[in-house]
Amino acid sequence: MARKLAAGNWKMNGLKASLSEATALAEMFPAPKVDILLCPPATLVAAMAAALDGTKVDVGGQDCHPRSSGAHTGDISAEMLVDAGCDYVILGHSERRADHGESNALIAQKTIAATMAGLAPVVCVGETLDERESGKTLEVIRHQLSASLPDAVDFDKLVIAYEPVWAIGTGKIPTLAQIAEVHDDMRETLSARYGDDEAGKIPLLYGGSVKPGNAPEIFATSNVDGALVGGASLKAADFAGIVKALE
Ligand code: PEP
Repeated sequence: MARKLAAGNWKMNGLKASLSEATALAEMFPAPKVDILLCPPATLVAAMAAALDGTKVDVGGQDCHPRSSGAHTGDISAEMLVDAGCDYVILGHSERRADHGESNALIAQKTIAATMAGLAPVVCVGETLDERESGKTLEVIRHQLSASLPDAVDFDKLVIAYEPVWAIGTGKIPTLAQIAEVHDDMRETLSARYGDDEAGKIPLLYGGSVKPGNAPEIFATSNVDGALVGGASLKAADFAGIVKALE
């Protein structure tokens, strides 16, 4: 059985004052039944890790460079995220694939770097609206999984997030049958590559307009082990509703 994970992605949102939302969330869940993760912007990673030290809420980065150090202005390595107090890193989010031209091959290199540094990579995949409407969803997801994941992964740490690009920040979500179809297919694809036991340990998160109101039905869907949440992770009260639905 895969562990359950409620992961929040703050994207490019949050100033120091926002850390009170993170500490409020931690206070609401002193002994959660599921894993909880917040991924703030890089400027807040160290401060959030310090503020959440000793709590049950983990901290993650939103990206890392494939190399551990060097002449890469503006980039952050997996080692730096660990040093700042992170346990996780989101990789291959569709906004990074679109805004920074990230390829599957680069995401695979980043996944190796994160794994070697001891981070749990949250590798994101998802189809565009055009791809869904032309019936290519499963083909796209299978290809992204195959090309974004390396052969050697830490199955106790790897997390996959299925995020349809057209559902992110739009308020639109696929039908539950569409989510189940993709999640079941991802589990089968991962089993074929890594074996049933190892693939069964990988949490498969759904992401895209998850809110406290729709979380219970999404979490009751086949092979959904949690969520990667953008907008509704910014406020402790909203994210708490999603965490409770997963518990
Ligand atoms: C995301 O940022 O990964 C995301 C799913 O955003 P939202 O929940 O706002 O759609």
